[in-house]
Amino acid sequence: MADHRPLDPSTLAVTAGRGARRPGDPLSVPVVLASTYRAEGDGPPYGRDGNPTWTALEEAIGALEGGTAVVFSSGMAAVSAVIDGVPAGGLVVAPLAAYHGVRRLLTDAHARGRLTLQTVETARGGDVIAALRGAALLWLESPANPLLDLADIPGLAGAAHAAGARVVVDNTLATPIAQRPLELVADIVVHSVTKLLSGHSDLLMGAAVTREPALATALASRRALTGGVPGPMEAFLALRGLRTLALRLERAGGTAGELARRLERHPLVERVRYPGLPDHPGHELARRQMQGFGTMVAFEVAGGAAAADAVCASVELIVPATSLGGVETLIERRARWPGEERTPPALLRLSVGLEHVDDLWADLEAALEAAAAANPPGRAMAGGGEAR
Ligand SMILES: *Cc1c(COP(=O)(O)O)cnc(C)c1O
Repeated sequence: MADHRPLDPSTLAVTAGRGARRPGDPLSVPVVLASTYRAEGDGPPYGRDGNPTWTALEEAIGALEGGTAVVFSSGMAAVSAVIDGVPAGGLVVAPLAAYHGVRRLLTDAHARGRLTLQTVETARGGDVIAALRGAALLWLESPANPLLDLADIPGLAGAAHAAGARVVVDNTLATPIAQRPLELVADIVVHSVTKLLSGHSDLLMGAAVTREPALATALASRRALTGGVPGPMEAFLALRGLRTLALRLERAGGTAGELARRLERHPLVERVRYPGLPDHPGHELARRQMQGFGTMVAFEVAGGAAAADAVCASVELIVPATSLGGVETLIERRARWPGEERTPPALLRLSVGLEHVDDLWADLEAALEAAAAANPPGRAMAGGGEAR
């Protein structure tokens, strides 16, 4: 190419991780099913050390995030490998609003004396900075699952570095199309590849990405030793899904914004959280550090948990299910899970997929009306909503 302008992320999603360009080679790196390799080659000796199909996916995720990617068997395996790097007794500062699996993992490690956990409200920059004294690691998640709070990544990363701490950003909800934390001076990015990166609700995978070569080597070594290795078939499918990431995000993000605006005007909806709405507390921050506002909308239904459960029971096109980031729109009353005590009981998390906005809206509108009819005001708080 004539100029050396960096390729747009949407182009990289298509071109990265294609392997060597030898005539006659397939365009896509194939699924390599192997537990071992002939000795004395240049590649990995054993299936736990490496796999060409993983490498293709790692090249693509690495190119998108601007670092070296190491893929794992799930998002939580990637998270665990990063947390494993905290020295014994080290202080980890993490948001109260982080993904519940991450919070539980850190709480458990704290209870066993493996590390010291200090939780903070990441929107309160002063609290975070105060907690960072002597910290080994600052964990951030932005936007956070499921409340869609934003964290000031460059501001908090700068403060963490001044305190001598490394900074991790869980970039699952934004994806590198909408946010590149390494460019915002974070040290490590983690992903649940299960979600938007692969995008088809058919596999579990994770990734950690860093610009520090020694850290990337340490993460790959931890993967080999703890055995959190992805399947080659999963890696192939994840890369196949990643090829359309920019297009999926554009479509689902546009639909999410439109649904958020329509929900905001709906009389049975009490509050809508979407970073693209001007009244979202993180809206200006999102405009500064993101390119787009994501595909997740959270909204609170009038009538409490029972009404929210009734919405989930009444949708016909939208699927009541956990998880997010697939082509199909999913809805979930998040507070049904243990450990989600901070999540309002009537909050519904909508993972917007690729269906037409008017079909989704018609389904939501009908479900909201059915829920209101089943839970008329006055007896709204009577039933349902028991903790599961
Ligand atoms: C799902 C999720 C994880 C965990 O990933 P798995 O692939 O389910 O192990 C971590 N962080 C966030 C934000 C998630 O949504």
